[in-house]
Amino acid sequence: MSERLVTLGAKTGAPVRPAPAPDALRVYVETYGCQMNVADSDLIGSVLMDAGYASCDRADEADVILVNTCAVREKAEERVVARAAELGALKKKRPGTVLAIVGCMAEHLKEGLATRAPTVDVIAGPDSYRRMPALLAEARQKHDAPILDIKLDKAETYEGLSGAVGGDGVSGFVTIQRGCDKFCTFCVVPFTRGRERGTPPREILRQVRELADAGYREVMLLGQTVNSYVYEDVTFAQLLRAVAKVEGIERVRFTSPYPVDFTADVVAAIAEEPKICKYVHLPVQSGSDVVLERMRRGYTVADYRAIVASLRAAVPDIAFSTDILSGFSGETEEDHQATLALMRELRFDSAFMFAYSERDLTYAAKKLPDDVPEAVKKRRLAEIVKLQEEISAEVFAAHVGRRERVLVHGPSKRDPAQLMGRTDGFKTVILPAGVGSIGALVDVTIARATMATLFGVAESSPGSVT
Ligand code: SF4
Repeated sequence: MSERLVTLGAKTGAPVRPAPAPDALRVYVETYGCQMNVADSDLIGSVLMDAGYASCDRADEADVILVNTCAVREKAEERVVARAAELGALKKKRPGTVLAIVGCMAEHLKEGLATRAPTVDVIAGPDSYRRMPALLAEARQKHDAPILDIKLDKAETYEGLSGAVGGDGVSGFVTIQRGCDKFCTFCVVPFTRGRERGTPPREILRQVRELADAGYREVMLLGQTVNSYVYEDVTFAQLLRAVAKVEGIERVRFTSPYPVDFTADVVAAIAEEPKICKYVHLPVQSGSDVVLERMRRGYTVADYRAIVASLRAAVPDIAFSTDILSGFSGETEEDHQATLALMRELRFDSAFMFAYSERDLTYAAKKLPDDVPEAVKKRRLAEIVKLQEEISAEVFAAHVGRRERVLVHGPSKRDPAQLMGRTDGFKTVILPAGVGSIGALVDVTIARATMATLFGVAESSPGSVT
């Protein structure tokens, strides 16, 4: 899971709502963490807009500042603590401003969060978002102690709420599953997001249709272990095929699958259904059986290798990314070398790579010593990153000269005069302006590549295909 920061501002493609009243309270949302959190921030935005709030994209102009947080790594929590201090200074300049810290870190630290972030007014967990308007209203009346709402709810899937507020107007998220039952020994998510539960398929399809009607071309189905999705007798493979049939949606993605839940029917759906993207994020975490066992990941390196092989056999050009956690309890130099060897063997297109940091509540924090010295973790992580950079550079370079179909997402962040799009294999492509409009699928030739970006040029025939 990557840590990143995004803000909720004015979006294109959002469902039509009545304009907020001129005196509507303004909410600014900042998001840390994975795509699930980005989708949750859209959901919170949707709940608040329905309650009459207006969104704003500057914290210093907001009546409510809402920070949606991640607890996966200590560093992510430290960033929020530092940010809460900055936002506290803004609150002083604008008395009456409410600071809400929500999501996994709020659930993880509970009332203890107020000690680390004394300026917080509302602490709310991932299952409390329907109640945000009431919590914020209460906080505006009450100033002595923060309002706490951290009860997890085994049944909450936010059915009936809109998933189509955010995104870039081209690619939207639909959360199909919440919580996690795997209890990997290093991971705090089952404690912060509760038990696994699937959203009913009819609700997922309603949200996908809502995205399509709003002009979105791509949908990313989200779940902590997305391919373990099951609802009554509907399997993940059946759901994927049904989503791919929604008119207007040209690409279907999903993240993150759990390796051992990759069944043959899911592999077949990816291979057979052209709209399901030929890209899989498949977290491996380690290349050592001993470490995988200690992590309780439920697979061996041989199992993982077999899943990759079955996907590559069914879909020869499939792209893979992965997560690697370096320096877990008891990891030896030999274990580390095994991870490097597996990376060389499987050649992931890209990877999210992290050094282990202990999270309280987890089995590892209670029973497994965090015994790899920080300097060793750092060095091993640097070796992993360096190797992945070399592999990514080679994988990306191999695309030069190839024809790629690219979905245009919007202007390039670095140079708004250019466009940014993605290939079916989830590679970012920078395109010259005029190659296609936003939301179009265009055929381009890859002219050059870095280790993270492709650069496309128009084909000699007109590029736009839709
Ligand atoms: S599968 Fe493991 S790593 Fe992923 S969210 Fe669940 S417990 Fe955490």
